[in-house]
Amino acid sequence: MPELPEVETVVRRLAKVLPGKVIKSIEVLRDKSFQGKSNQLKARQIIRVNRRAKMIHLEIEGDHDLLIHLKMTGQLVFVGNGQKIGGGHPTGDWVNELPSNHTRAIINFQDGSILYFNDMRVFGWMRMLDQPALEKEFNRYGPDANSDELTVDYFKKVFAHRSIPIKQAIMDNVLLSGIGNIYASEALFYAGIHPQRSAKSLIHAEWKKLHQAIRMVLDEGIKAGGTTFDGKYVNADGLAGHYQDKLMVYGRAGELCLNCQTKIGKIKLAGRGSYFCPRCQT
Ligand SMILES: [Zn+2]
Repeated sequence: MPELPEVETVVRRLAKVLPGKVIKSIEVLRDKSFQGKSNQLKARQIIRVNRRAKMIHLEIEGDHDLLIHLKMTGQLVFVGNGQKIGGGHPTGDWVNELPSNHTRAIINFQDGSILYFNDMRVFGWMRMLDQPALEKEFNRYGPDANSDELTVDYFKKVFAHRSIPIKQAIMDNVLLSGIGNIYASEALFYAGIHPQRSAKSLIHAEWKKLHQAIRMVLDEGIKAGGTTFDGKYVNADGLAGHYQDKLMVYGRAGELCLNCQTKIGKIKLAGRGSYFCPRCQT
């Protein structure tokens, strides 16, 4: 599942091309993937592309915006102006001709460019929402992990009394949004905190380190265009990211820690594989 840096990467790429485009038509190929009366968006202009938590928000002229969640396997691929850009789950649809068998909705713009929403497993969605519905959706999530709302004080107020493992706590989107398995593992490594520690066992200096580490891994992840694991598509320009080359612990069980040469360990926490260095993280 894409995490904050991967979604932010898609948003930044689309923000370069979508504003100003006028919707000509929307083809919904799978009803489950698109909620709303798509013809109401006809002849409307895209104003801005934003992100909230792991959702992509297309601000559109008129009463309804479009909110998109890529979930496990969603992709947004823009084709036009002689380029193909976007991102999401890496599959052959990044490089093959579109639409494909996985295309669930197609937004055609008046200038001939096209935005494809592909989603192999059909957990993702596009929803037309008015302002109150948007706010209701946004309020379900804690502050964005890379926003200024996340402070050491916020950690201490909202997290410090919880007895659940710290890794599980920072992945809970109601408390903090945007962090999944990859960036949680990496941030805890940089902070020197074992993923299994209970949130309430952290002392002030550790909250500070964790706060810095989260900001750092997200910033670096965004700079690298996110993480793309499928080796076949890592060179798809305008779609792939390269943070996988910088991972210190995630996916490296049994390999040596780049810091101390100890073997990276793996445990299961709340059903998710969790990677850590048994020496650097205590
Ligand atoms: Zn180590």
